[in-house]
Amino acid sequence: MTPLAEIIAGRIRATGPITLADYMEICLLHPRYGYYATRDPFGVQGDFTTAPEIHQMFGELCGLALAQAWMDQGCPAPIALAEPGPGRGTLMADMLRAIRKALGMTEAAEVMLIEASPHLRQIQRDRLGTVTHLDSVEELPDKPLFLMANEFFDALPIRQYQRVSGGWAERMVGLSDDGLRLGLGPVVDLPREGKLGDVVEECPAAPAMVEAIARRIAAHGGAAILVDYGGCNGYGDTFQALRNHAPVDPMECPGKADLTAHVDFAPLAAAAIRAGAVASRPVRQGDWLLSLGAAQRAERLAAAGDAGAMTALRRLTHPDEMGHLFKAMAIWPKGAPPVPGFDALRLHADNA
Ligand code: SAH
Repeated sequence: MTPLAEIIAGRIRATGPITLADYMEICLLHPRYGYYATRDPFGVQGDFTTAPEIHQMFGELCGLALAQAWMDQGCPAPIALAEPGPGRGTLMADMLRAIRKALGMTEAAEVMLIEASPHLRQIQRDRLGTVTHLDSVEELPDKPLFLMANEFFDALPIRQYQRVSGGWAERMVGLSDDGLRLGLGPVVDLPREGKLGDVVEECPAAPAMVEAIARRIAAHGGAAILVDYGGCNGYGDTFQALRNHAPVDPMECPGKADLTAHVDFAPLAAAAIRAGAVASRPVRQGDWLLSLGAAQRAERLAAAGDAGAMTALRRLTHPDEMGHLFKAMAIWPKGAPPVPGFDALRLHADNA
């Protein structure tokens, strides 16, 4: 067993099986052996590639959408320009370059990064210079907040429940003779529909974080754009491990593979509305980027000699690539114009 597998096994021997959420958190964030704590997992050499790492146009378009929202709200100053889970800092660097076009926004902005990994914090400082690092979104200031998150919520720990006769049983990580193994905990009552064998997922930390973000936006102004892969139901087993761009068994080599789950946007929108802000309908990443002019931007870059621009456009927007699987959702204050490319979710009477 690897050192991290030994640590997890020791804990299970001492106190019994652990939830998938605990397992995910240890694997991703253990200070010594955790996945994000020990490496830079992005890009061709790493385990996965994210939209901002594919091409600069992604971050530029996100930056322009936030800049438009800033101007629509009367160019408030000072503001927090924030990003949870900034990875290598590429998205923030591209956004900062784009928002220079919105006169005064750069000067008004204090860049705030919410990052758990000391290793990635250093990479972000090297890339961006002076930034303020926070441990959690709860530490964001009481100021207008302009926030961008890409592939952040998919890294938050999830819990899974499987339908058994008599209710739902939580999927737990326990021990077998040859290592860590997924099993089922005691039957619990869960207000969810399902037939025998069905799996449902919950990400308890995510709505709380969105509520903290939306509360600031409702009170002080601002906007948030959340991009992630997923949809709107939370049904099915979407827990996955990726190593060297290929799927592996999530119970194998803890700390050495990226662990994620699809994001369920419905509870995130509900949390934003609960906090008194407006939540958008989730839209497909491809549709959102094209509505912001991604095709025109790529053509202009290609004409100027950027050989990769058209391929990148396809990867970011085509239905067979990231275009449909990834969704974008926005949050803005009541009474303010929608963030570019979004409209308000119509299901909630108090969402306008
Ligand atoms: N947004 C980047 C990176 C996504 S990877 C991109 O698009 O390329 C997920 C990021 O979230 C990493 O930076 C990871 O260290 C960070 N992260 C994961 N869990 C976190 C948590 N609970 N609090 C803060 N940061 C976290």
